[in-house]
Amino acid sequence: MSLVEIQNRILTATKKAGRQAGSVNLIAVSKVQPNERVAGVLQQGHRLFGENRVQEAAGKWPDFQQKYPDTQVHLIGPLQTNKVNQALELFDAIHTVDREKLVKKLADAVQKHGRCPELFIQVNTGEEPQKAGISPADVDGFVKTCRETYGLTIAGLMVIPPVDEEASLHFALLGKMAKRNGLDGLSMGMSSDFEVAIALGATHVRVGSAIFGERVPSVNT
Ligand SMILES: *Cc1c(COP(=O)(O)O)cnc(C)c1O
Repeated sequence: MSLVEIQNRILTATKKAGRQAGSVNLIAVSKVQPNERVAGVLQQGHRLFGENRVQEAAGKWPDFQQKYPDTQVHLIGPLQTNKVNQALELFDAIHTVDREKLVKKLADAVQKHGRCPELFIQVNTGEEPQKAGISPADVDGFVKTCRETYGLTIAGLMVIPPVDEEASLHFALLGKMAKRNGLDGLSMGMSSDFEVAIALGATHVRVGSAIFGERVPSVNT
């Protein structure tokens, strides 16, 4: 598959859902991809990328952004509190806000830097013990804490559904939780299910292998 093909599929799914063209942001997930592939997608004009590790992003994006300064990079993987300051310099959005300790660090760092990336709260809709994210029952309270205790603006919610379950149920649940909390952003949908996510209101789809090809783990790690 290619970037153009994915863009076309997104547009088709967006229209089919009765949504406005351009209302879905494509995050090209470039983690563990060889730099030539990333450069190829930049050359085609794409400017929004996703990384799941702070260290890897730090080694890759400052150089690319010298050449393509309007490029945005979103963090879609876990964030350790000791990397919050670095993350604020590197990322335009963080999709993995998942605990109060992190929120506190973020709030402090935002004060210091005078700018705040877009923040998405990761929700563990499948309540999987090995997975990060706020439990569905705690989401409303957590959103409130972020807003009222720490003064942060929350852009939306993010989910990675359990691999062995119908993703649409999890996307629909995320949509409901976002709506009742007055949140517009929905970060959901990957290579295998982004069209389903768009039908259920995704504003940000995170697509890696369908754009770049299979990941080559030995290259950048
Ligand atoms: C790797 C990753 C993706 C992209 O996965 P693909 O199946 O390659 O599209 C999306 N979201 C997160 C959180 C990821 O870590």
